[in-house]
Amino acid sequence: MNEIIDHEKINSGIQAFLEKSHGHFIDGNWLDGAANKTIDVINPATGDVISSIQSGDESEVDLAVTAARRAFDSGIWSKMLPVERARIMFRLADLIEMHTSQISLLEALDIGVSRDMMQMIGVKLAANQLRYYAGWVTKINGETITNSRARPEGREFLTYTEKEPVGVVGQIIPWNFPFAMAVQKIAPALAAGCTIVLKPAEDAPLATMYLAELIAQSGLPSGVFNLVNGYGRKAGAAISSHEGVDKVSFTGSTDVGKEIIRAATGNLKRTTLELGGKSPVILLKDANLEEAIPAIARAIFFLSGQNCMAGSRLFVHGDIYDQVLKGLKVLARSMTIGADMEGTYDIGPLISEKQLTRVMAYIDIGVSEGARLITGGKRVTSLSGYFVEPTIFADCDPGMRIVKEEIFGPVLTIQKFDNEDLEEIAALANDNIFGLSASIWTTDLAQGHKLARRIKSGQVGINVHAAIDPATPFGGFKQSGWGREFGREGLEPYLETKAITAYL
Ligand code: NAP
Ligand code: MG
Repeated sequence: MNEIIDHEKINSGIQAFLEKSHGHFIDGNWLDGAANKTIDVINPATGDVISSIQSGDESEVDLAVTAARRAFDSGIWSKMLPVERARIMFRLADLIEMHTSQISLLEALDIGVSRDMMQMIGVKLAANQLRYYAGWVTKINGETITNSRARPEGREFLTYTEKEPVGVVGQIIPWNFPFAMAVQKIAPALAAGCTIVLKPAEDAPLATMYLAELIAQSGLPSGVFNLVNGYGRKAGAAISSHEGVDKVSFTGSTDVGKEIIRAATGNLKRTTLELGGKSPVILLKDANLEEAIPAIARAIFFLSGQNCMAGSRLFVHGDIYDQVLKGLKVLARSMTIGADMEGTYDIGPLISEKQLTRVMAYIDIGVSEGARLITGGKRVTSLSGYFVEPTIFADCDPGMRIVKEEIFGPVLTIQKFDNEDLEEIAALANDNIFGLSASIWTTDLAQGHKLARRIKSGQVGINVHAAIDPATPFGGFKQSGWGREFGREGLEPYLETKAITAYL
């Protein structure tokens, strides 16, 4: 795209956006909530209040579900010609790219990620997700079935399946990379022909509200996409328990995921859950350390460890243990901490004071459990936001809480192993309730593939960590979730299969 970016104009546009009182996007319009309660939106790099949103509850969720139901039942979206439906999704992807600067600036202010990183990763990934699923719209087919039912002479059966959209879907997202998260949720739902009620995280709603404004310009019919702002225990709980919602798709913590399942039992909603992780990174003794060490540091410290795929448990072969510890320590100490729009810092803030308190408590637990703190461990008090030093604990044991539990901060635990038996290495890595992501570092690809087969997690990288892509299924084994997003598998949960048999 060859746009000339007028930063001044963009910044004044964003200033006006921040100053607005943000309500809920329902049936194509922005509405204020009935209760008129607001929630402050905070910039985690400074602790400053930068905007505010309305705090919705059951009544706004009910309005949104009613709008989504009406839009679904009217067939205005699900029965639109597939090529036209795809065209609107492609147009939304273009609109997103045209507004890369605005979206990136909002996300930078809301979560502390650098604007450059957001432009490179968040916006591009989101636009590509939409384009990927727009491509599926014209390729959603059933199949003909070879039927073995007994039949009288001269009669025949014709059996075939059709795919239908599930209906009204509730989508609840967390605050880490919220824009990409919102788009990755809506893309397969829209491709399937569903209508949507989405709740952003109250900690980072800005870019998702901007998405609603772009959706309004994209030609998507009113009522197909609705957004309700508010707290999870209010607006989120109202979505997951609402009888008018046919499916709920949730990304967030494992504890809340379990609550979602309980709330969804009322009308047996279809449920997809993308939950927490404690992803192992396994360094075999023949790994290329020049490549592996910086990649391992990125795998844990990217977005200050607030990433479900963060490589938070490192396993290192004894022969290279000291060398790896030294390399990681030097790298962590050289990382700069702060936040600016250009992304000149390596480590940004944590999302909130609550998250900061949680991460610092885990660091204290690590020390009291006897893990060896080799670098970091402190809050950065010279900065006003919620910054924590990149922190590394060596000589960790499988029983330690810092090894077992998801911290969601810049904290790496390191365990040593001394044998070469793949079953035993895999058993160490699999000793956890989560199973989202993993990576193996080795120059012996055959060993890498053999070990990958033994790892219990939804994604395994060999000499790469967290290589996500719209076409590649993403999701968790064990308590990291139910179902998959991305790829063909990410579309299926938004479709019902109907089998039709004719007696001919
Ligand atoms: P969270 O506390 O579980 O919140 C996620 C979302 O659920 C937020 O919108 C939250 O609302 C809402 N929520 C909270 N309680 C709810 C309830 N009772 N009913 C319905 N909704 C409710 O998670 P988080 O702290 O935002 O995000 C971090 C977690 O997400 C980590 O565990 C991380 O691993 C996981 N995550 C997983 C993936 C993945 O793809 N597997 C990706 C990213 C993050 P409010 O916060 O607005 O109140
Ligand atoms: Mg914020």
